[in-house]
Amino acid sequence: MADGQLRIGALYPNEMNIYADRGNIAVLTARCRWRGIEATVTALGLGDEIDSDAFDLFYLGGGQDDDQRRCAEDLVAVKKEALTAASQRGAVLLGVCGGYQLFGHWYELEDERIEGLGLLDVETVRAPGARLIGNIAIELDGGDGDPGGILAGFENHGGRTLLRPGATPLGRVLKGHGNDGSSGFEGCRSAHTIGTYLHGPLLPANAWFADWLIQMAVGEAQSLPQLDDDLEELAHADALKAAGL
Ligand code: GLN
Repeated sequence: MADGQLRIGALYPNEMNIYADRGNIAVLTARCRWRGIEATVTALGLGDEIDSDAFDLFYLGGGQDDDQRRCAEDLVAVKKEALTAASQRGAVLLGVCGGYQLFGHWYELEDERIEGLGLLDVETVRAPGARLIGNIAIELDGGDGDPGGILAGFENHGGRTLLRPGATPLGRVLKGHGNDGSSGFEGCRSAHTIGTYLHGPLLPANAWFADWLIQMAVGEAQSLPQLDDDLEELAHADALKAAGL
């Protein structure tokens, strides 16, 4: 972490960016700049090597299976070591949907297994049955240092993600499908590494969650003054209403 700075590494912004997932980056940078914190965004694409210490927060959005396959190969071959080191030293890693799946051990489709990073103790399988689609709301319980609160968004995934014993879900499903449509859990979290199925994009409708990520990434010593969040609160209320809350 550098003083007064948030250095964001945007993984595969061209391939892994469905449902306007790059809006998440826009929220992170805006909320930093509004507070006088310099935010830089570096695209980390196919073939790019990563200096693990050069970033405070890595972001990986969602994608179609084909794009996911190409990125997964590159993640494991080129970026795994640096991202594992970053996760271990406490950098924030946020993965959404396809990105979440690739933070886990693997994503299995019929007779194919796409290897992931193994940063989260989860595995994803493409079980028969309809895709899990719709508006979703989940509740974070305030345990393990999370601030507690409700996240609202939109999910669309064929993969079902199973948490291995001992893995911590990000939240409890209030409305929607979540990890696998039946466990009642959504997402996974291991220290500062977080995976979730919530698109929307996630952060414009859940500014409190963006601030939590920023705080973890820049460190507790950096104060994050309150912002005028009238519009963000309306966006949050709208997403909650869409999910039926
Ligand atoms: N391709 C993955 C799935 O369908 C992830 C989709 C996504 O990122 N929305 O499960």
